[in-house]
Amino acid sequence: MKLLVFLLLLQLCGSADCRCFCQVTGNLDDCACDVETIDHFNNDQLFPKLQNLLESDYFRFYKVNLNKPCPFWTSSSHCGLRHCAVKPCSPNEVPEGIRSPSHNKYSADANKQLEECEKEQHLGAVDVSLSDETREALLDWSKYDDEAERFCVVDDEASPDSQYVDLLLNPERFTGYKGPEAWQIWNSIYEENCFKPYTVKRPLLPDSFRSSSGGEARKFYSWLDGQCVEKRAFYRLVSGLHASINIHLSARYLLDDNWFQREWGHNVTEFRQRFDSELTAGEGPKRLRNLYFLYLIELRALAKVLPFFQQPSFHLYTGRPEEDKKHKEQLLQILQLARSFPLHFDERSLFAGDEKEAAKLKEDIRLAFLNISKIMDCVDCFKCRLWGKLQTQGLGTVLKILFSERQIEALPMSSNQRPSFQLSRQEIVSLFNAFGRISTSVRELKNFRSMLAEER
Ligand SMILES: Cc1cc2nc3c(=O)[nH]c(=O)nc-3n(C[C@H](O)[C@H](O)[C@H](O)COP(=O)(O)OP(=O)(O)OC[C@H]3O[C@@H](n4cnc5c(N)ncnc54)[C@H](O)[C@@H]3O)c2cc1C
Repeated sequence: MKLLVFLLLLQLCGSADCRCFCQVTGNLDDCACDVETIDHFNNDQLFPKLQNLLESDYFRFYKVNLNKPCPFWTSSSHCGLRHCAVKPCSPNEVPEGIRSPSHNKYSADANKQLEECEKEQHLGAVDVSLSDETREALLDWSKYDDEAERFCVVDDEASPDSQYVDLLLNPERFTGYKGPEAWQIWNSIYEENCFKPYTVKRPLLPDSFRSSSGGEARKFYSWLDGQCVEKRAFYRLVSGLHASINIHLSARYLLDDNWFQREWGHNVTEFRQRFDSELTAGEGPKRLRNLYFLYLIELRALAKVLPFFQQPSFHLYTGRPEEDKKHKEQLLQILQLARSFPLHFDERSLFAGDEKEAAKLKEDIRLAFLNISKIMDCVDCFKCRLWGKLQTQGLGTVLKILFSERQIEALPMSSNQRPSFQLSRQEIVSLFNAFGRISTSVRELKNFRSMLAEER
């Protein structure tokens, strides 16, 4: 009997679906949640609702500067790659309410309230009693305060180079961006910004495993296990994001491109190249588990930020009151659903030690992530740059939320003062769209699972 079970297992694990997914099950490290609970919650409940919301005007138009020069090296441009092109919106395609600059940071009411209150409390006082220089310095300080809490670079919306992009017309999918340029980006993210010493080698191409017979991978994981939970979490977030991008390009692959048609769809071979344990020397399933970890962290931030969106003065302002109201209700339902998730990541396990050390660690992580968001301006393919910028900004916003618990809780009390916590429209749009990408990836895994099972 035992022999029969053994043979059955051997047969199962010899199949491609098992080699991709057999280890993508059960509890996730560093948290109390498991893969199956996330699958069920996401695929059956959250994913359809979120997709619906992301199709609304407020969330589909994202303002971004795709023309910023790379601050680290001279990058070549892949605008020559046909599938890398991004089509920006012409001004009349974007609803007036979104374009109007006064609605960028706050809702209509909150904006007015804030402006009046700022005038009374700050600028009024400054004008009478302080010199112009001091006044300017004060404005600089408040800008600095805003920057100080950020985990990613935010494009200057007022810059003439910043343009609205319709995310539904420019979907994240296979672009053909690969080779040394793409590797340079991933490499500099992992090597220079994930706290890893150069002497510890990252598990790389399958060939490098064969030559080192897995020794380098073992060294890498013993280094990672020896790290504090925060740095380990940071690596897993980045790796989860990388996995998500690669799932999308495998799920929306260019299957056929001829005079008559262009067909996009699932490419199971491409998926296996990236996630089959046999083809990735055991790495693929670990990457998929990191995707689930990223999902949990982003979900936690959505649950936490609910009080911000519950403020009566907050509107998803596009200038069409009926629709705006309906979409706000949808958004609140999604956030309530996120709150109801039974096995949330407990962020109290992070930064729990000595206060001084925790503050230093938090700052290190903030700066590392800030740097990763700058690297996105070095991505040569515009389409990849667009989604890379959006997703790092979304993740940066997630971190900002998780580190602002007290300020978010204080919000209901701060109605007559400067709000204790703010999110700009850009941050809101990137937060939800970035989570939409991760949620879609988890949903796509279900598709790949059944496609691979059919091949068996
Ligand atoms: C910011 C960014 C956005 C991109 N967006 C797109 C896009 O929208 N469409 C598109 O077609 N291409 C996109 N790409 C390119 C894509 O991610 C790959 O780089 C490309 O397909 C080449 O893949 P590869 O198999 O050579 O390995 P890569 O994905 O380039 O990975 C390099 C090495 O990193 C390791 N690795 C791979 N995955 C992980 C992981 N999850 N965790 C840890 N290590 C890992 C492997 O050892 C691998 O050899 C993007 C690249 C970047 C940097």
